[in-house]
Amino acid sequence: MSVLYVISTPIGNMQDITLRAIETLKTVDFIICEDTRETSKLLHHFEIKKELISSNAQSESRKIGIILDRISTGQKAALVSDAGTPCISDPGIRLVNAAIQKQIKVVPIPGVNAAITALSISGLPTDSFVFEGFLPQKKGRQKKLTELSQETRTIVLYESVYRIEKLLDELNQYMPNRFVSVCRELTKMFEEVWQGYPSEIISKLNVKTIKGEFVVVISPVDWKDSHDRIDK
Ligand code: SAM
Repeated sequence: MSVLYVISTPIGNMQDITLRAIETLKTVDFIICEDTRETSKLLHHFEIKKELISSNAQSESRKIGIILDRISTGQKAALVSDAGTPCISDPGIRLVNAAIQKQIKVVPIPGVNAAITALSISGLPTDSFVFEGFLPQKKGRQKKLTELSQETRTIVLYESVYRIEKLLDELNQYMPNRFVSVCRELTKMFEEVWQGYPSEIISKLNVKTIKGEFVVVISPVDWKDSHDRIDK
């Protein structure tokens, strides 16, 4: 049967891979990945040897035809990203979409995702939330921040080390009274979480020397519990 497995991999701690992910990676004919060096490290750790096909944001549309032809002839394929869940702020959605159109079975092998991991320890409402991924770097950034300053759901953002200082300054400017949870290096050795108003986080976090990857979770505009928490 033609099948494409969409497999989540760890975001830092190798032990966060699922048993099903390991078993599936062992059984497929080939693996589609972002960066072959990153996926090779993962496969080496679990002693898996497989053919890797790199497909990133630039090459995805060019490679889709070849990949789907191979799956259509009966080969089993796995899609992974460098870390976490494929297609979530990562390449893969065009391949998945094209596979669905070709009536190829797409099977999820769920696991870690940085946004959900950060949300789960934020203490903020999770009954309704909005995932915005990375904010636009230039055009549209201010408009988006203005919109988010009125957001009534919890907001989850991704941010790189290069812009975390800028983002915290912007949150202080656009939404100074919102409770924010900043998670760095989740599941890794130097995992850290800062919580409070943007100004408090700016004073706690030494943005000049800090490294790593960040998820920022922001309280809804009308969330009042934040005041109780901060004053404790
Ligand atoms: N597909 C991934 C997922 O499922 O979470 C996200 C990939 S996106 C290109 C990378 C961004 O995810 C990073 O810039 C950071 O914002 C967030 N991220 C990934 N791993 C992380 C970690 N261990 N700790 C904190 N944030 C992380």
